[in-house]
Amino acid sequence: MPNKETISIIVPCYNEQEVLPVFYTKVKKVLNTMDVDYEILLVNDGSKDGTLDCMRELSKKDERVVYLSFSRNFGKESAMYAGFCNATGDYVAVMDADLQDPPSLLPQMIDILRSGEYDSVATRRVSRAGEPHIRSWFARQFYKLINKISDADIVDGARDFRLMKRPMVDAIVEMCEYNRFSKGIFGWIGFRTKWLPFENVERVAGETKWNFWGLLKYAIDGIINFSQAPLSLASWFGLGMTVFSFTMLLVVFFRKLIFGDPVAGWASTVCVIIFIGGIQMFCLGIIGQYLAKTYMEVKKRPHYIIAESNRNTNKIK
Ligand code: UDP
Ligand code: MG
Repeated sequence: MPNKETISIIVPCYNEQEVLPVFYTKVKKVLNTMDVDYEILLVNDGSKDGTLDCMRELSKKDERVVYLSFSRNFGKESAMYAGFCNATGDYVAVMDADLQDPPSLLPQMIDILRSGEYDSVATRRVSRAGEPHIRSWFARQFYKLINKISDADIVDGARDFRLMKRPMVDAIVEMCEYNRFSKGIFGWIGFRTKWLPFENVERVAGETKWNFWGLLKYAIDGIINFSQAPLSLASWFGLGMTVFSFTMLLVVFFRKLIFGDPVAGWASTVCVIIFIGGIQMFCLGIIGQYLAKTYMEVKKRPHYIIAESNRNTNKIK
């Protein structure tokens, strides 16, 4: 009998002690109905609650549970990357621990991949029920903007929950940039992706780790990681100001020559100086953002450090 195909489920966890056991039971139930072998890769992203104990217990009970525990909180992006680097399956999925990514979609997803037409099946929320309106509005604007100014194809409402075939996972592992923005990376590497829409599900227990400022920062990071448009914004601003001020200079010069009109207005001059100063600082700030990213990139610091695991793995990557 040929060996069964394997699927690896990557689960980034940060303070998820309340939901992890529920998640495990639900996912296991679904996986058992599918004709696959599986491993569940739990990544503990420096949780401060009992998440790690919970992982140890699960891995003792079930040999298919692998856990990687970080030395501190490195963020969901690093947790996902650690998962990708350590997943051994022919198929790999990323899922949130809070059951906002319905495990019941998995059988359908794997069927689509097996039919051979696609390399990955991704999910997107078609509603944002249960989310503050202002957050939804900003999210929609973000997706509109980033699709206009970058070549990473990012779908509105896309979640990180997707099932991929091995070649795609290998491509992701190869993308070893320090500043990671997975939604952009998935789009950038290409491959044939099918989108599955689903209704938003609220988290079963525990709390979201995102507040408004955190999300705004994430959005700005996404734009900077995948677009150089803000940089050219600075050049266009500069060019515009130069043309405008040169024209004004000519106007003032000829007015003086023809009408002998002295230019009055100390206040207006100061306003103009401050205005230009403001724009200069703004553009410098944009350059600073890119420089900061480049700085972190050239340092080549590891993405994560694993302090404990039940699998023999690269501790630092
Ligand atoms: N998460 C993580 N590290 C972090 C923050 C979040 O691994 O620093 C995990 C978290 O445990 C969850 C997933 O990322 O499994 C999504 O987080 P959350 O549910 O808070 O985000 P939301 O669904 O509200 O966007
Ligand atoms: Mg969530």
